[in-house]
Amino acid sequence: MSFTGISGTQKIDRAAVEAPRAWIGAGPKSLLIDGRWVSAASGKTLETIDPSSEAVLALLAEGADIDVDAAVAAAQKALECKSWAGISPHQRARYLLQIADLVDRHADELALIETIDMGMPAWFSTAVAKMAGETFRYYAGWTTKIAGSTLPTDASNFIYTLKEPVGVCGAITPWNVPLLLACFKIAPALACGNTIVVKPSEIASLSTLRLAELIQEADLPPGVLNVVTGFGPSVGERMANHSGIDKISFTGSTAVGKRILQASAGNLKRVTLELGGKSPNIIFPDADLDRALDAAVNGFTRNSGQICSSGTRIFVHRDIYDEVAERIASISAGRKVGDPFGADTFLGPVASATHCDRVMSYIDAGNDEGARMLTGGNRLSRPGFFIEPTVFTGVTNDMKIAREEIFGPVVTIIAFRDEDDAVFKGNDTTYGLAAGIWTKDVGRAHKVARALKAGRIWINTYGETDPVMPFGGFKQSGIGREFGAESIAAYTETKAVQIRF
Ligand code: NAD
Repeated sequence: MSFTGISGTQKIDRAAVEAPRAWIGAGPKSLLIDGRWVSAASGKTLETIDPSSEAVLALLAEGADIDVDAAVAAAQKALECKSWAGISPHQRARYLLQIADLVDRHADELALIETIDMGMPAWFSTAVAKMAGETFRYYAGWTTKIAGSTLPTDASNFIYTLKEPVGVCGAITPWNVPLLLACFKIAPALACGNTIVVKPSEIASLSTLRLAELIQEADLPPGVLNVVTGFGPSVGERMANHSGIDKISFTGSTAVGKRILQASAGNLKRVTLELGGKSPNIIFPDADLDRALDAAVNGFTRNSGQICSSGTRIFVHRDIYDEVAERIASISAGRKVGDPFGADTFLGPVASATHCDRVMSYIDAGNDEGARMLTGGNRLSRPGFFIEPTVFTGVTNDMKIAREEIFGPVVTIIAFRDEDDAVFKGNDTTYGLAAGIWTKDVGRAHKVARALKAGRIWINTYGETDPVMPFGGFKQSGIGREFGAESIAAYTETKAVQIRF
């Protein structure tokens, strides 16, 4: 599975968009609680906006405390029921494989819902939706391999460990890659035998709701999967401080991650936080520049820069700085912004009006701070939240645009002197999510990879993802890891048993 190598163009059959549009238009969306689709107890709804047109797209149920309480009660009940707690790991694998097949069969529909709801270009959403099915398949493989161990002791003793589900998990997800991020939490939670309450972002909930409908078709026992839509400070906060939730897995901003950690203290929930980033992408003079520069532009324009691991600080050796900056600006200017269904569109709109204003304010800050804008800088004068890829040079690492996560198609290019300087500047950030290194010198690549403080390092590639590779952040980019064996540890408790003969 990989985002890299996916072309920026994809022909979308206009007729294929009809089914997702019909589903979106089929009336207000509901909450999934205890296996039933229900309105919010208050009857309230909230509007979700089409970022390409700024028109109201759909009404979502606006959940509140009482709905979270009902979902948690259902998840607790499911955790105890024989038809979930009593089944074999093989049966859990069958559930996950069935879900993977359902997701694969509906991959294009899920992708196009994402494109309509949050503006992700169709070429990217279709690639992402393929990864959704693969994620369930990967975790289906784990179910039968989650094992404790026997431990060395004396002859009158037997000591072993059991791996048990943590209990009721709460998943809170952001709007930038909603379908996939929901899968990254639902699949391991179920693989380990937990039950789960999912709260998608109020800005882009639709793909998660459709995913939940598909998962229902796999006939999981009621209450194993619940979805409560609504706002963060109500639904999200209630989940974080709910004494019936045993673990929270949160993906979102660092600021909200800190609140979640505080709110979780009440019952000492297990907490996994996947937060923001300001990732360095370091280009040494011996790099294959054709590959490096194309990937570097992908690294901040894909999904309009709304990816946590975007390479938004490109560090370039001073000997090649001017040439590289010009080439990055020229490649970026060639990336088309527009209709996310357009065959030659690379960047769709950013997801919301508020976010659009935020990104534009950072572009203003870059200009105010004296950075030099080589290309971009404009919001398109048409309905929707479309922003040009924007490249700043003459940037120093202490400028606001080099320190804060912008989460838009904006990049800063910063010069470095030598290897030590690149590592120092790369690490000079409060974040530590990802980093890229471009060089043909194998020794240097490994040395720099070891020195950079980030949870994922790409060498001569950027932005690939695969569920075998743990993902998560150093420093304020998070706590814990998703994927790989570490994600299994995060969704299980270890019980040690001793028997003395
Ligand atoms: P956000 O933090 O504003 O919201 C994320 C989720 O938290 C939403 O569902 C929101 O409703 C909820 N929320 C908001 N306030 C809350 C509160 N007080 N209590 C509980 N829940 C609350 O983030 P966003 O704007 O939706 O997403 C963008 C951010 O997500 C960026 O910072 C990005 O880097 C980060 N992100 C990180 C990763 C990763 O894997 N590290 C992946 C994707 C996105």
